[in-house]
Amino acid sequence: MVIQWFPGHMAKATREVKEKLKLVDIVFELVDARCPLSSHNMYLDEVVKDKKKIIIFNKIDLCDRAETAKWKNYFENKGYTVVYTDAKNSNNLNKVIDKAKEELAEKIARQVAKGIKPRAIRSMVIGVPNVGKSTFINKLIKKNVANTANKPGVTKKQQLLDTPGILMPKFDNQEIGKKLSLIGSIKDDITPLDDVSLYLIELLKENYLENLNNLYKINVNSDDENVFIMEKVAEKRFKKIGGDYDYDSTIKLLIQDFRTQKFGLITLDNYNDLLENEEQNEN
Ligand code: GDP
Repeated sequence: MVIQWFPGHMAKATREVKEKLKLVDIVFELVDARCPLSSHNMYLDEVVKDKKKIIIFNKIDLCDRAETAKWKNYFENKGYTVVYTDAKNSNNLNKVIDKAKEELAEKIARQVAKGIKPRAIRSMVIGVPNVGKSTFINKLIKKNVANTANKPGVTKKQQLLDTPGILMPKFDNQEIGKKLSLIGSIKDDITPLDDVSLYLIELLKENYLENLNNLYKINVNSDDENVFIMEKVAEKRFKKIGGDYDYDSTIKLLIQDFRTQKFGLITLDNYNDLLENEEQNEN
């Protein structure tokens, strides 16, 4: 079974984003800091075109900082502006505002030169489901209101559009689909969870073997087959059913444990994998 996304939804979402774009000065694309490349919409640039854009690596509190820093570099080298945030705990949101002002400084200066009074920055937040768009918008609105509330004569303007744009990447790569499933962007009922959990095992054994072994008190190594590792987890955690491992419960457990951070701070997109893929493509 392959993970499908429905092009109809995407076309509609793209249309909506295009419509809203006319109303804003800047676009914030939220990606999940645990898989900044897989949750980034590479088609968005075509839609956004000349609008200023900032990529927000949200859920920074959940990622492996060293690995995610490589992705920040990667995006910055391609000319993107990147800001880390933890929207849930309102961390680094001031940085977003500062960067947005920086990006728009020239535009604002031009307006001032023409005698136009600069208005509040209007932005649009885009990203795949579950990256934290609503949380981010709500926190940012509160921040702005709090900043202006006790200054007389300042109107409380809503500086952000409060309906986030949901844009799914058109992924032709099943690994992206599986990562999006792990971060909760794709509904479980349209996802082959057995594949997703085996893929999670694969990623953990390659990059976070200790975390995997520690959580389940097992002693597997990265040469072991994924199914063998799943059986080890099943053996530790569930009773056999009619002599068989309880795969269903184990699949759910693995995915749930990832989503509740039981493995610790994990970044799913591995930078070396990208380099290896690029090398293979060149040969
Ligand atoms: P949306 O679908 O993109 O609008 O995402 P939501 O704003 O609904 O957030 C999805 C889930 O992620 C919620 O449970 C939020 O509390 C959580 N969340 C949002 N931002 C962060 C963050 O920076 N860190 C953590 N740990 N959780 C977050």
